[in-house]
Amino acid sequence: MYAQILLPLAVGTTFTYTVPPELAARVKPGVRVVVQFGARRYYTGIVTALSNTPPEGAGQLKAVSDVADNTPVVLPAQLKLWQWISSYYMCTQGEVMKAALPSGLKLESETTLLRNDDYVPSAEEPLTPIEADICRVLSADKGYNILAIEKALGQRALMRPIRHLMQLGAVVVRESMTHSFKPRTEAYVRLAPALFTEVALHLTLDALQRAPAQHALFVNYLDMAGVTAAVKLGNAQMLKPVTRHDLCHAPNAATALAALKKRGVLEVYAVETSRLRPSVAERAGQDAPMLDKPLSTEQQRAHDEIVAAFATKEVCLLHGVTSSGKTEVYTQLIKETLARGEQVLYLVPEIALTTQLTSRLERVFGTQMGVYHSKFPDAERVEMWQRQLTPEAFPLVVGVRSSLFLPFRRLGLVIVDEEHETSYKQQDPAPRYHARDTAIVMAHQLGAKVLLGTATPAIETYHNALSGKYGLVRMAHRYGGVELPEIVVEDVKELRRKRLMKSPFSPRLATEVRKAIEGGGQAILFQNRRGYAPVLECKACGWTPRCTRCDVSLTYHQRLGKLVCHYCGAQYSVPTQCPACGGTEMRDMGYGTEKIEDEAAKAFPDARMERMDLDTTRSRTAYERIIHRFASGDTNLLIGTQMVTKGLDFDRVQVVGVLNADQMLGQPDFRAYERAYQMMSQVAGRAGRRGSRGLVVVQTKQADNPIIDYVRRSDYEAMYRQQLAERQAFGYPPFSRIISIYLKHRNDAVVDHAARHLAALLRPHFADGMLGPDRPVVARVQMQYIRKIMLKVPLQFTPTSVRRTLLAARDVVHGFDVYKSVTIYFDVE
Ligand code: ADP
Ligand code: ZN
Ligand code: ZN
Repeated sequence: MYAQILLPLAVGTTFTYTVPPELAARVKPGVRVVVQFGARRYYTGIVTALSNTPPEGAGQLKAVSDVADNTPVVLPAQLKLWQWISSYYMCTQGEVMKAALPSGLKLESETTLLRNDDYVPSAEEPLTPIEADICRVLSADKGYNILAIEKALGQRALMRPIRHLMQLGAVVVRESMTHSFKPRTEAYVRLAPALFTEVALHLTLDALQRAPAQHALFVNYLDMAGVTAAVKLGNAQMLKPVTRHDLCHAPNAATALAALKKRGVLEVYAVETSRLRPSVAERAGQDAPMLDKPLSTEQQRAHDEIVAAFATKEVCLLHGVTSSGKTEVYTQLIKETLARGEQVLYLVPEIALTTQLTSRLERVFGTQMGVYHSKFPDAERVEMWQRQLTPEAFPLVVGVRSSLFLPFRRLGLVIVDEEHETSYKQQDPAPRYHARDTAIVMAHQLGAKVLLGTATPAIETYHNALSGKYGLVRMAHRYGGVELPEIVVEDVKELRRKRLMKSPFSPRLATEVRKAIEGGGQAILFQNRRGYAPVLECKACGWTPRCTRCDVSLTYHQRLGKLVCHYCGAQYSVPTQCPACGGTEMRDMGYGTEKIEDEAAKAFPDARMERMDLDTTRSRTAYERIIHRFASGDTNLLIGTQMVTKGLDFDRVQVVGVLNADQMLGQPDFRAYERAYQMMSQVAGRAGRRGSRGLVVVQTKQADNPIIDYVRRSDYEAMYRQQLAERQAFGYPPFSRIISIYLKHRNDAVVDHAARHLAALLRPHFADGMLGPDRPVVARVQMQYIRKIMLKVPLQFTPTSVRRTLLAARDVVHGFDVYKSVTIYFDVE
């Protein structure tokens, strides 16, 4: 027997191996096998097909070394989807496999392993001698790969014992992402049960009079946990969970807490924060309104129209203004789908959204819901994957784009929330897929429906909806009859001329923020740049520090005390002297969120502010905490990058400031205006969601830019018409498909020649539809020089024929020895 095997490689399609008779019964499509590839390397591969005849021209074939599963871990439908992705987005199926499977499911020679010292061997299942040897070689903090273990033990074929050790939990895969780690447990503080009476509390407070720090901390705790009210009603269930982190803000709080513990006043306990379920912190975090309320008339109409649209269409767009209550409509549809015994995949663009959303959905769906996230430790992702193959599969999966790779056996509905979000598109590495578009294909393959929801649809989506390809359902009003916020535009150019811009906040914005805070409300300030200042400059000669590996200036990060390259992540110390002129004075130019934070501290000294950007949210719990503190009113001024624009639902935000609209309008991309509109409307949508009407202040030097006017009038339709006209005039999507071709090499001349050569081959096919080769704005990243060719592919060209042309042209270029080492890849749409 011969097996076609897919390996997680960037070359080729599948590889043929022979199946030894003793393994034949277990080798089936979808099971994992271990095979040797090259002289020393072992990989876990997936069997895609079996046959009795050897492929033509096959020489000496290697045999499958081992079979890892008794039942398939990848379903036929998944293999089909991988095939589509690899073909449409022009990468290998191996690259799709690599992205789709959690590391723990695709053990290979290079996989780095750690020993888990928390593992206790059980008496029923003692380790075999070889397993014990492997554990001895491994360490708990320094990773070893399988090749290294083989070498250390002078023994080969260790995949099977290693896999068994992983099943036992004795060995774990080291995560490649350094920021992905989420603590397993979180510390919580609670009142000693004996003190749960009014009398006991009074006595305790009296006793603490002479220990002011402890007294203060205790009062804080009573407040945060809502003890007084709970004691009054004699209901300990009402106590709110308080994390140690949230309680211990003040400098000596930890010491005070330790003392209170010793006195037996407070207790500290650990809560396991499982990744498959929303954490306790999330669930307890907010007094968020319950979901599962009766739908309003408008929501009910939208729901009915969606159901009707699904009778004839596979995809439906729900275009509902911010705070129209789209989530409740989704909830209703999810319930109906689950009731039919079908599964629902609820896609969200980013982690920021999952925090609030999962706690809202959890109240309705409880244990029926699983959450899947690329930031979860690998072991948890493996657990979820395997669970989804069993009858215990979660019927509802909430997750980011990679969750569409999970196995689904009876998918009925996919919801793509905030479908316009750019984070649905994977940039690097391959597969460079778009999760919304892939979800539509997947749903089609599985016979499921797709609901796209947003207040600001992508131009392409809206076009598809208007043309009748998708159903279109609208909700034009906010839930509860709250008005959309008032949006005022502040002309920064004019204010500067009049010398009224004394800070990054216009006088109007500053006044409104102050008013909101003084009145017990909240405000959000949006600046789409992290760090302190985007540019540092020598005062004397204008020299600016740049990354040595990339062609960009470095961003000054004051909190870190470093200069950081936002392209490759490299950090540099801040120069004390200018290397060009010897000058010793540097000035920073422009504003990042750190500097905005400093300026806000001066302008709004009474505000309790917090910053939310990539730097303050390295761990998942950090997000949760920031959002939780803002939702609960502990903080009242949130400063952040585009993270603050996304789908968050807060009650008391009265004012939103867009500090620099020009930065978004100035991006060199045909989608820049569309994105600027979406980002501004979305952040504006955080204002005044409950009760009184909110206010949004947009600061710009381009007050007469039409996009600014569309934002001000909340006129999506006008923005759409104007952008569509431009797209048509210049032949951009939806009137063409865009394929960008990137070429990278360490030598500028080599990449330049390769790009010209490739362009010459492609020009006859695409003529005017080809732009470039050009140097992109950042023309060198990580020592690699870059060229870009952009193709506007006419819609009548089939993806298959275009793919054939492009891959052939790439092969021609790679056929020249000088160009062999040039990286060439495609980015579709
Ligand atoms: P969107 O996703 O459209 O921006 P949300 O779903 O977040 O809007 O809803 C906005 C707010 O209105 C939420 O706080 C939600 O709880 C509330 N809400 C929406 N629909 C209802 C309903 N039918 N009953 C009670 N509250 C609702
Ligand atoms: Zn200088
Ligand atoms: Zn760099």
